[in-house]
Amino acid sequence: MDFKFDNVEEEFRSEVKEFIEKELPWDWRKEDLDAEDEVDSIKVMEFKKKLGEQGWLTMAWPTEYGGQSATHMRQVVFNEEMAYRGIPAGDAGVRMVGPILMLYGTDEQKEQFLPKIANAEINWSQGYSEPDSGSDLASLQTKAVEDGDDFVVSGSKIWNSAHAGSDWMFMLVRTDPDAPKHRGISFVLSELETDGVTVERIPMMWEAYRGLVTFDNVRVPKKNLVGELNRGWYVGAALLDFERSGVDRPARAKRILEDLVEFAKENQKNGTPLSTDPVIRRELADLAVQIETARLMCYNVAWMQSQGQIPNMEASITKVYGTEMMNRLYGFGVKMMGLHGQLDPGSKWAPLQGRIENAWLRSFGGMVAAGTSEIQRNVVAQRGLGLPRG
Ligand SMILES: Cc1cc2nc3c(=O)[nH]c(=O)nc-3n(C[C@H](O)[C@H](O)[C@H](O)COP(=O)(O)OP(=O)(O)OC[C@H]3O[C@@H](n4cnc5c(N)ncnc54)[C@H](O)[C@@H]3O)c2cc1C
Repeated sequence: MDFKFDNVEEEFRSEVKEFIEKELPWDWRKEDLDAEDEVDSIKVMEFKKKLGEQGWLTMAWPTEYGGQSATHMRQVVFNEEMAYRGIPAGDAGVRMVGPILMLYGTDEQKEQFLPKIANAEINWSQGYSEPDSGSDLASLQTKAVEDGDDFVVSGSKIWNSAHAGSDWMFMLVRTDPDAPKHRGISFVLSELETDGVTVERIPMMWEAYRGLVTFDNVRVPKKNLVGELNRGWYVGAALLDFERSGVDRPARAKRILEDLVEFAKENQKNGTPLSTDPVIRRELADLAVQIETARLMCYNVAWMQSQGQIPNMEASITKVYGTEMMNRLYGFGVKMMGLHGQLDPGSKWAPLQGRIENAWLRSFGGMVAAGTSEIQRNVVAQRGLGLPRG
């Protein structure tokens, strides 16, 4: 395994850094934006339009669809530079809906959506989880009944970003209630500005909301079905060869650690700099080791992908380790900053603009979203270690 980036990749890194320095409309040193927040999402979409103009949003797309067929390592470089500066450039449209349409979409769907996704003109929301279906997603109950040229959709989708200016939702719905649970599901695209759709905001324990969308007999045209009827489970699982190493976590963590080190040097407790406290020094050093470990794990996954291998257990390992490492990092930051460290963003007394406290609360969600730590550990136990199902 060779971890060194080549000259072309390093040149690209410089190009990305320069671009951000010149074009980013906010001060990344002071912000930690949440692309699923109502206010932040507007700023983020505006910046994504600029990334779209550069062709960077869709660099991983095949050239026949206007992408650059970029290598995994080039994507790693891009993702690292964005995450280090806290720019939430990851995009469900680019990484999920676009590739799914390339594989399963009709010509009309490709024409309607792909250019808009590439130019950041559509904000998508992911409609998979329901109030009673998360880890066991195939138990989902939102139903879609055929009626003429439409499906009539009823049910709820939760924990999504529909409240934050999403125009469309890509969703899994039950089209055959009598079939075995994985086989009666279809993949449809639903416009959110439609009669019968209600979007509610659910407060998170950090300063943000997530969406609860209720569909009450909503008519979704059949032309918005992607792939075959009742084969949606397999459509949802099909993805192009994207970089999925999770390298954004250690890249972001590196920046946060730098902030904490700086804070420890500049602030005192009982007349002595925090940076001379042996407990703080040891914790910071330990976190630096964890971040480096996470980074190398992620490079390993990216390298496997670049060799045409499909990371399975390895991807679960980086997800568990990366999200739990972020939680430990932010949690230590809050402790190290003392009582003031618990203040929310917005308080003039909050150290580092309250970013660490807010991100600490948010980091618990990271260990749940996209498959909980427990589910990832199940994958490692069963597929990695060959242990029987628990
Ligand atoms: C911040 C955030 C953003 C999200 N964004 C989206 C989104 O955009 N779109 C979307 O569709 N969903 C989204 N989700 C939902 C997310 O995918 C689910 O929360 C997650 O899959 C867990 O499902 P659940 O909440 O129903 O918990 P449950 O599945 O009910 O799990 C409850 C607990 O039981 C444990 N558990 C469950 N099954 C097992 C098992 N077999 N073995 C061991 N332990 C088990 C879990 O680990 C967990 O601790 C988001 C969640 C969060 C927190």
